[in-house]
Amino acid sequence: TRSIPAMIEADTPTFSFEFFPPKDDASEAQLWDAIRRLEKVSPSFVSITYGAGGGTRGRTVRLTQRVLEETSLTPMAHLTCVGHSVAELRSIVGSYAAAGVRNILALRGDPQGGLGQPWVAHPDGLDHADELVALVRGLGDFTVGVAAFPDGHPESGDISEDAETLIRKERAGAEFAITQMVFDVDNYLRLRDELALRGSQLPVVPAIMPITNARQVARMAQLAGQPMPASVTDRLESHGDDAEGVRAEGMAIATESSRRLLDEGAPGIHFITMNRSSATLEVFGNL
Ligand code: FAD
Repeated sequence: TRSIPAMIEADTPTFSFEFFPPKDDASEAQLWDAIRRLEKVSPSFVSITYGAGGGTRGRTVRLTQRVLEETSLTPMAHLTCVGHSVAELRSIVGSYAAAGVRNILALRGDPQGGLGQPWVAHPDGLDHADELVALVRGLGDFTVGVAAFPDGHPESGDISEDAETLIRKERAGAEFAITQMVFDVDNYLRLRDELALRGSQLPVVPAIMPITNARQVARMAQLAGQPMPASVTDRLESHGDDAEGVRAEGMAIATESSRRLLDEGAPGIHFITMNRSSATLEVFGNL
């Protein structure tokens, strides 16, 4: 059994890597190649996302268990409330407990109709992530993390609402938070300061995704529910069709943001790897 919070509270920065469950054998081989390469730099933990739809969900449980059994890594499983009754959530958490997985990122999940649609809870399910935090904490000796939104959650009115939500999750038993992808460091600092003003002790680890190609820019904006800042897109677009130039600029942006975040006292960097290793290792090496 390996647990995360001691690492986040340590004096040295925490470095962690995020993966998603692969959909076929070829992607699975690519993921395991990335896991083996990234394992060599001994990250504090790795996390495995939970699919929005039914199909990939069992894969999250299996992949998390396999990482625990077959590698030296500390895995954290993401879990959402979407489409689940409380009984189902209990059963998933129970299977993690039985497998020895001790770390869970407790999320509400996006509305089933997609971003922008109203959130509708399962009739026997949970309304918000704070309820899932409390449920998981009540079911065993779990370390529970939560999501944070420096650019504002799409359903939140303003940054103070995002801070209040995080404090509600902290009170429910969350021990740390991981942010959405950070492209604007000032927004991260603003959320951190809002939390400190309210007396929060929650460590908030910023997530960084090193951009390797122009296609990812639109995809990332879609995932985040808002456009990327012009300061970032202008730099990438200045390279036009020069794929190598775009990649180098993406690495530079990720490195500069990470350095500034760490200099400002962020507790670590959570890398969104897209199941590949080279870009993450390059930025990690620069740090
Ligand atoms: P909540 O904390 O419940 O917040 C949702 C909204 O409700 C916010 O606007 C909040 O202000 C408001 N709110 C919260 N609590 C209350 C309350 N008690 N009363 C009134 N209003 C409230 N999605 C996936 O499907 N799978 C994943 O693996 C996944 N991983 C993620 C990892 C990270 C690091 C992040 C940042 C997001 C991830 N997401 C994932 C996306 C996430 O599920 C969505 O962004 C979702 O819309 C919000 O989830 P949450 O846990 O922040 O919800």
